[in-house]
Amino acid sequence: MTYDYLIVGSGLFGATFAYKAKEAGKTCLVIDKRSHLGGNVYCSPYPVASTTGQAEHIIHVHTYGAHIFHTSNKEVWEFVNSFVPFNRYTNSPVANYKGELYNLPFNMNTFAQLWGVRTPAEAQAKIAEQRAEAVAALNGREPSNLEEQALCLVGKDIFLKLIKEYTEKQWGRDCKDLPAFIIRRLPVRWVFDNNYFNDLYQGIPIGGYNVLIEKLLDGIDTRTDCDFFAHREELTGMAEKVVYTGPVDEYFDYRLGRLDWRTVSFKTRVEDTPNYQGNAVVNYTSHDVPYTRVIEHKHFEMFGQSVYDCPKTVVSEEYSTEYKPGMEQFYPVNDDRNNSLADQYRALAGQEKNVIFGGRLAEYKYYDMAPVIEKVLSLFAS
Ligand code: FAD
Ligand code: UDP
Repeated sequence: MTYDYLIVGSGLFGATFAYKAKEAGKTCLVIDKRSHLGGNVYCSPYPVASTTGQAEHIIHVHTYGAHIFHTSNKEVWEFVNSFVPFNRYTNSPVANYKGELYNLPFNMNTFAQLWGVRTPAEAQAKIAEQRAEAVAALNGREPSNLEEQALCLVGKDIFLKLIKEYTEKQWGRDCKDLPAFIIRRLPVRWVFDNNYFNDLYQGIPIGGYNVLIEKLLDGIDTRTDCDFFAHREELTGMAEKVVYTGPVDEYFDYRLGRLDWRTVSFKTRVEDTPNYQGNAVVNYTSHDVPYTRVIEHKHFEMFGQSVYDCPKTVVSEEYSTEYKPGMEQFYPVNDDRNNSLADQYRALAGQEKNVIFGGRLAEYKYYDMAPVIEKVLSLFAS
């Protein structure tokens, strides 16, 4: 055997696993079917000459969608910062509903913009009035779908302007046919605070996520454009154990059926202006705009005057669609059929000898970046 581990997938799970394994004195080969390392955190660098032609600025385009690192886990935060310093970026998206602008997440700024209320007491009274009908209709039972959950949480104005149509675009389903938990992720705050996350630590790696991946994989053998299934026998024969981070149904040749996913496609273009929309993330929450949000990548890493020192900008429109074979798998669909199918695949995975299944595709789980790293660190802690 040439290696202790063959690691299928060079995303954060595979790269962190390889780093920890190397630290423990093991040898690894990391392969990826894509032509680059890093999985979904990979950034494409876009160089822009400055106005004077002297300096060059690099805009790191988040190729597979906006990635904002956030965690309350000090160990994870210190781990990633030991490879690359993180900047002070704070996610504070703006919602555009038919030309009206609202701050997200739902907080005192949003309530003031919607209803002209000035104090938390006024906002709470307004929300209580807005929720009353939906809460009464439940008759004491728990909300059973996203629409009921949202109406009980924030009431009808916010549901209709900021949730319903955005969610239907994102998931391609009526809000009544979606699970309630999706919307519980959105915080509601009685303070003037547009920070989307409640976590203690947040930021973007200075120089982009590729720096983090390069450092994690430093000194480790890697192969890109290498699909595990095209060379399965040969690759498996090269290592004692396999760490598999690809889709779990594909590993078992779809023998129980295919898992569903939502995918996102991106239309990315360069705008000849230093500041296109004034924020990294603008959500379009009505049906009349076909995309869900527009990302202006430079705002993840350029602040204040530096936005204007770089005379161009790169923006991406995000379109959410149903997954078809050949597309990228982005979000697991957590309905009953898929949850039960995923459980059956997990049971098969549990029986597989010498294979560790990990990460968002192999576990069929919506995973933020920090919990992926936390999971790998915990595997090596015991
Ligand atoms: P991936 O990064 O997907 O890596 C898996 C790798 O396996 C891929 O490179 C793939 O090419 C490779 N692979 C698959 N099959 C094979 C095969 N047969 N052979 C070889 N290689 C294979 N998290 C946050 O914390 N903050 C955010 O703001 C955030 N935004 C997100 C936005 C979007 C649109 C999406 C989809 C996710 C977002 N995430 C965010 C989650 C984040 O992307 C994941 O936590 C992270 O990518 C998980 O890493 P992973 O290694 O499990 O998967
Ligand atoms: N959501 C919404 N309006 C918004 C943003 C989000 O209704 O402007 C809902 C939507 O259902 C989405 C969920 O909140 O699926 C979680 O959104 P978030 O942006 O946190 O998740 P992401 O798409 O980044 O994974």
